[in-house]
Amino acid sequence: MLYGALEAGGTKMVCAIGNENGEILEQVKFPTETPETTMPQIFEYFKGKDIKALGIACFGPIDLNEDSETYGSITTTPKLAWSGYNIVNAAKEALGIPVGFDTDVNGSLLGEITWGCAKGLSDALYLTIGTGVGGGVMSNGKLLHGMLHPELGHLLLPIVEGDPGKCVCPYHRNCLEGLASGPSLKARWGVSADQLVDKKEVWEIEAEYIATALVTYVVTLSPKKIILGGGVMHQEQLFPMIRARFKELLNGYIVTNELEDLDNYIVPASLNDDQGIMGAIKLAIDASEK
Ligand code: ADP
Ligand code: ZN
Repeated sequence: MLYGALEAGGTKMVCAIGNENGEILEQVKFPTETPETTMPQIFEYFKGKDIKALGIACFGPIDLNEDSETYGSITTTPKLAWSGYNIVNAAKEALGIPVGFDTDVNGSLLGEITWGCAKGLSDALYLTIGTGVGGGVMSNGKLLHGMLHPELGHLLLPIVEGDPGKCVCPYHRNCLEGLASGPSLKARWGVSADQLVDKKEVWEIEAEYIATALVTYVVTLSPKKIILGGGVMHQEQLFPMIRARFKELLNGYIVTNELEDLDNYIVPASLNDDQGIMGAIKLAIDASEK
C-alpha cells in the first residue's frame, strides 16, 4: 500500500511516497512560495501515484480542531500569503483521498514513536531547535492539541546572567526560540552556529537555556523520553552539557527509572532528519484507517 506524505515547512515543501513500514520510496522538494504557485506543483506530483491517503505535517500555527469551520487551515502565520489557507480542504479537493493533518513537530514525534528511538512510547516530547524552536507532545498515547496546539518554543525563561545577546523573538523578550534558535545564535555571536563549534561559552549558554526549558517540560508534561532535533542539535557536544545541567536544575526532585539513565532520556533524533516526513506517512496511514 502506498501513502503520500507532505512535510510543509516555511522554506520548503518535502513530498514523499512511502509504505506501511515508513519506507520512503521517492521524495521531491519544492520551495515554499505562495499557495497559488506552490500547491499545484505538489498536487500534480501526488496525482497518479496511487496513494491511499495523504499525511500533512505542517508549519503553524494551524487549526487542528475537527469541529472548527476552519479545521485544516494555516492561521496567523507571519508568512502572510499562507495565512488563512486551508491546506487540508485543498488537498482533499485536488486528490479525493483521506488527509491526515498535524503540526510539523507532532509529525516528527510521531515518526520517532512509530519507527524511531521512542518506538511504542505513550508519552514523549520532541523539540526541534533550528530556524525556530517548536515541540510536539504525545500524552497518554495521543498527540497533544489542546486549545490550539502546544507552542513549546515560546516558553519564557530567565535570561542567563552575562548573556551578551538579546532575545530575537518579535513577541517576547525572553523566550526559548528568541534565545536559543539558530538565528538567535547568529544574532548573539555575529556568525552562524556551525562556525562556533570551538567556542565553549556559546554552548554553555545554549545548554543552559535548553536544559532550563526541558526541566519545565518534564515537570509539566512528564514525558518518558525527550528527543532533540533540528539543525542546532547537530552540535553533538550539546547533549552531555544539556544532560548535566538538566540534572543539576531538577536537583533530584523527580525520581524515575527513566531519569536514572539520562543518556537514554534526552536523546538526538534517530531517523536521519527523515522523522518529519516519516511522521507524515504515519498521519496518512492513520487517516486511511479512520
Ligand atoms: P529549519 O528549522 O529551517 O527546518 P534546520 O532544523 O536545519 O531547518 O535549522 C536551521 C538552523 O540551524 C539555522 O539557523 C542554522 O544556522 C542552524 N544549523 C544548521 N546546521 C547546524 C549545525 N551543524 N550546527 C549548528 N547550527 C546549525
Ligand atoms: Zn517568543
